[in-house]
Amino acid sequence: MTLDLSGIGVSRGTAIGRVVRMRHGDPEIYEQALAETAVENEVDRFRKALRRASEQLHAVRDAIPPGTPPDVAEFIDTHLLMLSDDLLSEVPVNIIRERRCNAEWALKLQRDALVAVFDQMDDPYLRTRRDDIDHVIRRVQHLLLGGDATSDALGRDLRGRIVVSDELSPADILMLHQRHAAGVVTETGGPLSHSAILARSLNLPAVMGVHHATRLLQDNEVVILDGATGMVLAGADRRLLAHYRRRQRDEQRRRRELLALREAPSRTLDGHPIALRANIELPEEIRAARQANADGVGLYRTEFFYIHRQKPAGEEEQLQNFRRVLRALKGKPLTIRTLDIGGDKDCSAAEVGLPGRNPALGLRAIRRCLRDVPGFKPQLRAVLRASASGPVRLMFPMLTSVPELENALALLEAVREELRAERKRFDPAMPVGAMIEVPAAALVAEAFAQRLDFLSIGTNDLIQYTLAIDRLDEEVNYLYDPLNPAVLRLVQMVIDAGHATGTPVAMCGEMAGDPRYTRLLLGMGLTEFSMPPAALLEVKRVVRNSRLEPLLERCRTLPGSEAEIHALVEELNRDL
Ligand code: PEP
Ligand code: MG
Repeated sequence: MTLDLSGIGVSRGTAIGRVVRMRHGDPEIYEQALAETAVENEVDRFRKALRRASEQLHAVRDAIPPGTPPDVAEFIDTHLLMLSDDLLSEVPVNIIRERRCNAEWALKLQRDALVAVFDQMDDPYLRTRRDDIDHVIRRVQHLLLGGDATSDALGRDLRGRIVVSDELSPADILMLHQRHAAGVVTETGGPLSHSAILARSLNLPAVMGVHHATRLLQDNEVVILDGATGMVLAGADRRLLAHYRRRQRDEQRRRRELLALREAPSRTLDGHPIALRANIELPEEIRAARQANADGVGLYRTEFFYIHRQKPAGEEEQLQNFRRVLRALKGKPLTIRTLDIGGDKDCSAAEVGLPGRNPALGLRAIRRCLRDVPGFKPQLRAVLRASASGPVRLMFPMLTSVPELENALALLEAVREELRAERKRFDPAMPVGAMIEVPAAALVAEAFAQRLDFLSIGTNDLIQYTLAIDRLDEEVNYLYDPLNPAVLRLVQMVIDAGHATGTPVAMCGEMAGDPRYTRLLLGMGLTEFSMPPAALLEVKRVVRNSRLEPLLERCRTLPGSEAEIHALVEELNRDL
């Protein structure tokens, strides 16, 4: 019998493989009273589980392939340190002896006590450690409960395996990719989570938001995953398997055909050049950007300098990194986005501001940076200094109003002054731009454009804030629609503001990398696109098969309803 589950396809591609489950969720734990004679055996059992957890973490750490960002190893080191701390290794032993209870329960009591202390702390950095404690304790509890092979799935070769989990962090995605997993399925998350964005950029087929996947799918059973439609199929018969294997072969052939477009110019049939740049999250992705022959980087997310680290990367580390990326780009532009931490982005090394009541509407991105000027300056200095080594562009995220933009520009000017006084080199003409991703900024885009060298539309957040949809909440993902007329009207306003002021406008949200929307965006007047490298050649194929002039004519006035816009997009794409 087949079991057909559905979720949200967040990273395209067909994957077929055997399931490996990885659970991070809370195990069910009950208290069991022990006979006095059983107490020391229980202490032994607890210590064995601790040792095993430590071995697992060491194995994961040792197997980190070269080139993995250092924060991944640091993240694991933090867990190892916690495991050996008396609070986790000795206090539960005392509880087992005093209460004569099972080890799982002792660990649960100690976890609850620690978490209560962390929850009362005002220090935001220490508060973020609470999640680490939870992860470590869950690992030991799973082992005590007979821990299956799944909890150390990250530590082994996963060729031909589909990893099914409740949730996966960007670091997990990176490691699963390096262990050659064929695909991933998660219970939570959506297309705009950073794990999803990373999966897309690594070409790892992924489906998220599949309710109860870790319960419904069994270890070792064969599943088919369709990362485009979000389908996950278990128990397929031979005929179905053969069908999807054929599809996999077709996809491989199509990828090869796309690769042939690598050197072809990105130009419409009527001769208009269209810039296609890459979004990268991690320096490693620069390889993929080069493989796709991107016109430089249109969005370098710099959160990895701060996430899952004990201390944020300082000026020198960031500067060296920017210089390395510039060298790899061989003269093509590098658009560095300043720190966008908070909201959906984990903030383990960012020390300003509490998580807030509603992080997406709170002290996020530029708001947070302007609150913590001493913490922000090293990054601004690093970006400016990197501009002496190649074509760097600086981009501020999440600006909301002109006064806020002016504050950011004044701070940048103060940093330029500092560097001048120190006789440090930088390009005084380094272009400075902003992401337009808050509706308020889109509505006054012309005022932004007058003060800046370029704008870049961030549709991921623009859609989230316009439609009031949490981009990570799978319950409301169905409402997420880039073709919503309100969203398109804002996008059009930003493009028009660029034309009116002679300011280049790009788009770097995920919409720019979806070939279904390429013709519509061209018709709306967009000429610069930035996207995950994996999407670039597909978008180039559409650009090269389109005539710009008729598209501009057809999209001069967009229809006002969802249905009409969807119909228009279908009409535009008919011959693709
Ligand atoms: C966006 O919001 O569209 C964007 C590109 O930024 P991020 O996804 O990093 O928030
Ligand atoms: Mg954004």
